Amino acid sequence: MTTKWVYSFDELDEAQEYVGGDWEKVRGFLGGKGANLAEMVRIDIPVPPGFTVTTEACNAYLDGGGSMPEGMWEQELEALKKVEDATGKKFGDPKNPLLVSCRSGGKFSMPGMMDTVLNIGLNDETAKGMIALTDDERFVYDAYRRLVAMFGSVVMGVPDEPFEEVLTAARKNAGVESDSDLTAEDWKAVTRKFMEIYRHQTHHEFPTDPLEQLKLATEAVFKSWNGKRAVDYRNAAGIAHDLGTAVNIVTMIFGNMGNDCATGVAMTRNGSTGENHLEGDYLTNAQGEDVVAGIRLTNNLQELQTEMPAAYGEFEQICQKLEKHYREMQDVEFTIENKKLWMLQTRDGKRTAQAAVRIAVEMVEDGLISREEAVMRVTPEQVDFFLHPQFSPEATKSAKSAGNLLAEGLNVSPGAACGVVAFDADLAEAWAQKENKQVIMVRPETKPDDVHGMLAAEGILTSRGGRTSHAALVARQFGKPAVVGVAELNLELAKRQMSVNDKVVHEGDWISIDGTSGVVYTGQLDTIVPDIKDPYLLKLLSWADDFRRLGVWANADYPRDAQRAREYGAEGIGLCRTEHMFFEAERLPLVQKMIMTDLPVEQKEALSALLPFQREDFAGLFRVMDGLPVIIRLIDPPLHEFLPNHIDLLRKLADLKIRLQQAGNLQEIDELLQQVKENESLLRRAEILREENPMLGLRGVRLGIHIPELTIMQVRAIFEAACEVSKEGISVHPEVMIPLTSHVNELRVQREILEAEAKKVMHEQALDIDYKFGTMIEIPRAALTTDQIAEYAQFISFGTNDLTQTTFGISRDDAEAGFLIEYMEKEILPTNPFAVIDEDGVGELMDIAVTKGRSVNADLECGICGEHGGEPQSINLCHRLGLTYVSCSPFRVPIARLAAAQAALNEKKASEA
Ligand code: ADP
Ligand code: MG
Ligand code: MG
Repeated sequence: MTTKWVYSFDELDEAQEYVGGDWEKVRGFLGGKGANLAEMVRIDIPVPPGFTVTTEACNAYLDGGGSMPEGMWEQELEALKKVEDATGKKFGDPKNPLLVSCRSGGKFSMPGMMDTVLNIGLNDETAKGMIALTDDERFVYDAYRRLVAMFGSVVMGVPDEPFEEVLTAARKNAGVESDSDLTAEDWKAVTRKFMEIYRHQTHHEFPTDPLEQLKLATEAVFKSWNGKRAVDYRNAAGIAHDLGTAVNIVTMIFGNMGNDCATGVAMTRNGSTGENHLEGDYLTNAQGEDVVAGIRLTNNLQELQTEMPAAYGEFEQICQKLEKHYREMQDVEFTIENKKLWMLQTRDGKRTAQAAVRIAVEMVEDGLISREEAVMRVTPEQVDFFLHPQFSPEATKSAKSAGNLLAEGLNVSPGAACGVVAFDADLAEAWAQKENKQVIMVRPETKPDDVHGMLAAEGILTSRGGRTSHAALVARQFGKPAVVGVAELNLELAKRQMSVNDKVVHEGDWISIDGTSGVVYTGQLDTIVPDIKDPYLLKLLSWADDFRRLGVWANADYPRDAQRAREYGAEGIGLCRTEHMFFEAERLPLVQKMIMTDLPVEQKEALSALLPFQREDFAGLFRVMDGLPVIIRLIDPPLHEFLPNHIDLLRKLADLKIRLQQAGNLQEIDELLQQVKENESLLRRAEILREENPMLGLRGVRLGIHIPELTIMQVRAIFEAACEVSKEGISVHPEVMIPLTSHVNELRVQREILEAEAKKVMHEQALDIDYKFGTMIEIPRAALTTDQIAEYAQFISFGTNDLTQTTFGISRDDAEAGFLIEYMEKEILPTNPFAVIDEDGVGELMDIAVTKGRSVNADLECGICGEHGGEPQSINLCHRLGLTYVSCSPFRVPIARLAAAQAALNEKKASEA
């Protein structure tokens, strides 16, 4: 049996059966456009008769070195016959000719693929026949000239310019502004001239045989799959090269046959705001391409309601039906021929983050989808957009209509950014830092040498590269909006300018890039910070809360951060870093005094002076977090971090000594000598404290063991604050976290003295506070011995930043500024392990720790407080490991709530399957 290469739109059941039923496979087989045209036929929506040549046929054609697979052309002819029967017209028949369009359409829509050719089947004879039938010579020649131009440019690769020159000349000769004012005679002359251009450029006559037109067009679609732009796009977007494209042959519907004809595009809901009403544009008396091409000013779809009420009414109903059927917002194309409505395309509509959230929520309320589906449909990135600046929908709309859309590329790092163009990293940095300019750095691609410019820039734009290019990786890592792989962008670095077609942008000109959509505009667009209090988002997140098992806590050092965290839905503080409080202006001298002195009395004085500050910090946190747990980590960094930098001290001393040499009077000498003395003793202490590898040195629990007075002071501050706030009627739940344990004895020793102090405070205050003592797990040895540790820890919290450093044996700062990017470019590491938890290594250690810890204490509270706690893929891992909660930056709390729900729903789905 020969393979079936061609499926009529009414043969969807057969196609579906062939691929095994799955709709995704149908889309792969017939292409998105073809599958949906057939699906519309199946649910009785008016679609012009037609057929699809499959992606398999395309692959067979390309594999066969450019010859049609056996039986394909015959099947096309057969399918064409069916179309003739359905329409009562005949292809190539001068009396009643059938015209068709030839449309490409793979599984994913893809720029760089062959465009559509309309009006196939026209030649001098059929044109005459059409004129006799329609009594409209103008219409027929308008259609004919379009065929010659589209066929020429699309199938034969003739450039557009000569055709456009003819059109411009025709308008000028006729003394009119718009194509719609040209007469039948004008179009006839234009058609003839187009034929000449075709002959001149291709050295062939324009094919007058309709079947030859059809064959060449079909083959051109196939070939365009391997066109350079299509291949580049697939490489960049990570689309497989073996998918192939389908070809759709569709009976022509004429929107340009008079004033009871129209053509347009619409979305079933507003793609910017998500509002539930039809949105679209149309043109009366025009053909499909005209609406998108922007050569005529389009009308708002609402006007169609008055212009053609019956067709509009039917259109509205079809849109509702489509939404119900696909359970998704649709983006449709339609054409009305002599009052009769036809649908030409439908697909899931693109939307902004706000629209995605609102549509998902309203579809639940309309009973179209379930709450689970709504929660699964919105991506964590979309929730993230509610927290970052974006271009306002009005700004992008007016930029587009003003013709300021420059180009589109890959949306590799979200967010909106505006700035003046700088074509190299040094200039970007100089402009940003010295002249306080907002800069967008534009390069063909970026290299490690460019990183300083990228950091200084507001955003990054490159003409080459894909989703894993250096530019994309660095941009994501540093949260800079970026658009890469903008192939149309012609960079002329020597001229310090870039261009897309005739639009030229010079260095120093403003541009705006949207890393969320991948669109680049000229000029400076308005940005808005969307509102986290969006009612639809709040509702969606509240549903997410019902599905998730993981708790979501936040890392917050100050009451104001804790306040925000609570507003965003945090259920506790997973990490309060106490050392941040030590750096504040009033306190740092006290901290330094404590470090500098060798006298116990002086040390005690310094610590007692610090105590009230710390107590107030903690009291503030406890008040905000009324009723919720607050984990406070005792001092973690090495002490030298609180002293001036060693090199700075040396410089300062040299400077003081020179000034001393030039001092004019005794008083000045005395003052300078005093300063020299102070700085020399700071330097001595700094030299004593200096470590070869501070990251692995005297820090964390080691510091608490070394200077117990310090951590005892902190614990006293915590419990005095807890008692104070508790007396105000607030419910307080402090959890004291000891950092960097590697051996259980470290924890045992520290806990003993610290808990004793805690009890002492509670005794003094005659209050019982609900508290816990626990430790961070950030060293592999701790993870491997968590069963021992759990004897002394009521909770553990993974510090995955340090745990990643100690597991890999690399320092984050050195790696990220250096070899890590190279590792990712060479795919030695799949992702940055400081961004996404390394599941095989670090994840395995976490698994061991949780399992061992819970084998001793089944209720052991296990959390994560590294930055990973706000990253969706890592959250999914934490869910699977059975952690109690993830703790992340307040700004990522909403994202974590959604990601935790999605992890739970995915697990449920997998267990049901
Ligand atoms: P694209 O994927 O670029 O939108 P399409 O294949 O959808 O390409 O077609 C381009 C334009 O031509 C659209 O406006 C479409 O509605 C119109 N069109 C395509 N086929 C027909 C047809 N058979 N009759 C009328 N208009 C058509
Ligand atoms: Mg289309
Ligand atoms: Mg740490």
